[in-house]
Amino acid sequence: MIARPVRSRRHSILTVLLAVWWFASGAAPTMLRAAPVDIPVRLNGTEYVDALNFGARYGLKPAASTAGNTVTLKSVWTEIVLEADSRESALNGLRVFLGDPVRLHRDRLWLSRHDAEKTFLPLLLPGSGEKKVPGLGLIVIDPGHGGRDPGKENHRLKVNEKNLTLDTARRLQRVLETMGYRVRLTREDDRHLGPDKVSDLQDRALQANRAGADLFISLHFNAVEAGADKVTGVEIYTLTPQHQFSTADTDRRDRSGAAAASAGNVRDHWNIVLGFQVHRHMIKDLHAADRGLKRARWAVLRDVECPAILIEAGFLSNEAEARKIATPEYRQKIAVAIADGVQAYGNILAGARRNRAGH
Ligand SMILES: [Zn+2]
Repeated sequence: MIARPVRSRRHSILTVLLAVWWFASGAAPTMLRAAPVDIPVRLNGTEYVDALNFGARYGLKPAASTAGNTVTLKSVWTEIVLEADSRESALNGLRVFLGDPVRLHRDRLWLSRHDAEKTFLPLLLPGSGEKKVPGLGLIVIDPGHGGRDPGKENHRLKVNEKNLTLDTARRLQRVLETMGYRVRLTREDDRHLGPDKVSDLQDRALQANRAGADLFISLHFNAVEAGADKVTGVEIYTLTPQHQFSTADTDRRDRSGAAAASAGNVRDHWNIVLGFQVHRHMIKDLHAADRGLKRARWAVLRDVECPAILIEAGFLSNEAEARKIATPEYRQKIAVAIADGVQAYGNILAGARRNRAGH
């Protein structure tokens, strides 16, 4: 056997030592290693990509593993937690719902291609693959319900959703105008929207389109019948991407609904960027329970021709939360938190535009 040069031997000792440290420190659990070759697999008819390989493309490394079916992918700015058989992920500590469950397959974690491309990619690299960066000149705020439709109600506190959304929308309008944005509301008073031929929700989307909106925010308050004393917090909805399942479709049965494309799906990329920023600020600023960034095919999101979100800003069915929402001070805090999220989204758009100009 020919002796190897010293440098190479020293190099291989170093490699072994590094590998020992690596495994001993638990930095690279043997369970979860990236696939040597990045080949997608089909699981239950859905295309999946190797989660660790996907993360590696964006500088995310596996940081820890618990019980072998959870992985944390980390970089300096970002931390993603994925769990096998779960449609819930965490991005920087915030709940982000996926269309398909993460899968454990051949000792590796797999992420559906749609979740990788429609949820994580825009959040990790906003503007990537997008031909156009949207503007942010005109913001249309849609106070949910109105007129003969009161929305959710809390009879004890004598408050209803239609009045609370209108008041919060007016507050949000003032905050955004102070920041320099142009703002319009879909209704300025207590009225039911929509002629008979289109639904009230569709009318709100069409109004935004006619006005040439760059951003659409539909404001709501929530309620539940069961568990009202426990259920509180904020949830943000963006339109479900084509071929995906909405968050509420827990059995993922609605295959024909999932196959359908809506006008709003053109904005999938920016919808989730917007949703995440508003969600982040609302959870942080309001110290509200995090109900998650969710997906739904609400009519009000389907037909709108600009990035759009629907905000459920709290539960009127929970006495403690309803009492807060009933105060002008808390509604002002909601308005400021949403506006901060919009501004953060605006900064991301500006960054994407700068990147483009630099190339
Ligand atoms: Zn509502």
